[in-house]
Amino acid sequence: MTSDPLLPILRTAAELLLSRPMLAGQEHDAERFVTERRQLLLDALLQVRGLRDQVRARVQIRRDQPELRALTTLVLSPDDDVVQAGLRVALQLSRERLARQNLRRRHQDKLNQLRSRLEMAKGRHDHAAVALQNATSALADVENRAEELDTQVAALQRRLHDPRAIASSLLAVLQQTPEAADEGPEARDPRNLKRQTANEPAPLVLQAAKAAGIEPQALITALQMIVAPPTLVSASPRVTVTRERHLRVRPLGGATEIGGSCVLVEAGHTRLLVDAGLRPGDPALPPRGMDEALSGPIDAVVVTHAHIDHCGYIPALVELVPEVRILATPETAQLMPRMWADSAKLMSERERVNRRWGVDSDALYGREAVETASQNCEEVPLGVRRKIGDISVELFPAGHILGAAGVVVQAGGQRVVVTGDISGFRQETVDGYSIPDSALDADLLVMESTCCAEDHSTREIRVKDLVRAVEEVYSAGGRVLIPAFALGRAQELAMIMTRHLPHVPVLVDGMAADITASFERITIDRASPLRILGGNVSRAKRPDDLDLFTSGVVITTSGMLSGGPAVEWATRILPEARSALFLSGYQDEESGGAKLLRLVEEQASHLVLHDRGVEKSVPLNARVQMMRLSAHADKRGLLEIADEVGARNVMLVHGIRNRQRDFAKVLAVRGHEVVSDRWGDA
Ligand SMILES: [Zn+2]
Ligand SMILES: [Zn+2]
Repeated sequence: MTSDPLLPILRTAAELLLSRPMLAGQEHDAERFVTERRQLLLDALLQVRGLRDQVRARVQIRRDQPELRALTTLVLSPDDDVVQAGLRVALQLSRERLARQNLRRRHQDKLNQLRSRLEMAKGRHDHAAVALQNATSALADVENRAEELDTQVAALQRRLHDPRAIASSLLAVLQQTPEAADEGPEARDPRNLKRQTANEPAPLVLQAAKAAGIEPQALITALQMIVAPPTLVSASPRVTVTRERHLRVRPLGGATEIGGSCVLVEAGHTRLLVDAGLRPGDPALPPRGMDEALSGPIDAVVVTHAHIDHCGYIPALVELVPEVRILATPETAQLMPRMWADSAKLMSERERVNRRWGVDSDALYGREAVETASQNCEEVPLGVRRKIGDISVELFPAGHILGAAGVVVQAGGQRVVVTGDISGFRQETVDGYSIPDSALDADLLVMESTCCAEDHSTREIRVKDLVRAVEEVYSAGGRVLIPAFALGRAQELAMIMTRHLPHVPVLVDGMAADITASFERITIDRASPLRILGGNVSRAKRPDDLDLFTSGVVITTSGMLSGGPAVEWATRILPEARSALFLSGYQDEESGGAKLLRLVEEQASHLVLHDRGVEKSVPLNARVQMMRLSAHADKRGLLEIADEVGARNVMLVHGIRNRQRDFAKVLAVRGHEVVSDRWGDA
């Protein structure tokens, strides 16, 4: 709206003037004339009454503008004085209108300024909220790690004051085979290790025994008596001495499935378990036949390796049977507490969530049980025989992962070999299995059968495929996420990257990073310690790296994309067309990884992931691929093991039932007698 109240009058006057013949052809634009010759028009109106009459006759004022009508009456009055008064009123009116307009404009400017400041403040607030969320989760990570370390330190301190624990550690050190200097891969292969038997005490023992004037074996026996005092060997009184020392074997879990591995071995008055793992699930469950094991005393658990499906139930067992001995290789004994602590944490989180929904569920065990179990661990070096009541056990290298061992169980002239998870090929972190003489021609071989229906291409081919795929993505400027199991697979992947792609930056994140550090610590005294972090491999710094690390490889948990940092990374990497996600192993039906593979097959556009309790729909633009890197022997590998051990009977465990049935037929054709359910009851 214009500030000039006289505009309609002046425009009409201008039109009238311009229509006069004397001005014709000079100026035809009335609007412009009003702007440029305003004073002339005003003078004309004031002086020429006739013009006023003409304007009055022509000007059009709307009915809803009474103020303008009144002004028009004044300014176009026949009376000159009235006209002058009218012009003054018009001037005043014009000033007021101008002032009002300026004020309104200033208010509008102010309002616009405030709006843009509000926008900026909102942006800053959103940014701060994200930063706060990131910082909170980073803090939670640090707190978790600190708590973890606290638990470990507490367990170690308690071990330091426990004579049994100290004696068992001392025994392990004294009986450990002295390592030769590293002479390359051949020398590192456990098949070439010269094993020391219990008859060859270490030089230190010889010296000490000589100085004390006793037989070296007496020193070893004394230590063994501290580890397992005679009264603790068996809880049941030996009133009737004539109990058969025949070995009896019964799988109590993980026989025709993968998860909850547990084999009950009995002889005389002694009962021991080989493994006591958790069955996967939400919540995780004990081995199926645990009640059967708990129906009598349990003297010991011999643990083949630190994967949770083999050792995850032990802290719960220790709460029920506090005196139970836990025997494992030094590596496994050091890895288990970290695995248990993670299980305890997951179980307590699950418990908290259930309680919130009013569902009663108790975690199988907590931190205290983890500490007690850690304290009960006895480190048993490979190739050294240990007595547990009427039974003796010896561990041998089983490949698979760092510290993994098979067990030769012996009683009353009978021998049973339990492979645990086993592999024959050489990996970056561990060599293949090595069957000891004590296992040959055993009475029973209890053998895993995870991949009994598969013929794996050689490991070199699988590694080559992975390396090529990573190189393709990296050289195109993308990043690769490899969700991996924290123990074993993650370290293998990191070392494969270092060996084949040393120019590609690699981040290890979450629990995988903690276990990687443990691998280095555990092997530090070896002739060739494992070095994984450093060079092109480093620990991820979350949350910064999530956005700043845009090119390279990220290895993290969970391996099945069902939680953990892998999900956080996936929400960022899956939408990137130049990046990739490579799954590295078996994916459970219900897992995020299996869901992802199905969606990619269907060419779906989005995947729904749960990132720290928040549901996110993630666009699927990245390359997704399955890269199998098994750490289990395949069909041919298992047949080789069966042939090499040459046991009278073979029992298959840790596999899928119908595949085991087919494989049992193959074993039968090759002259092996396959038994199931139980052995040695006759
Ligand atoms: Zn395993
Ligand atoms: Zn397993």
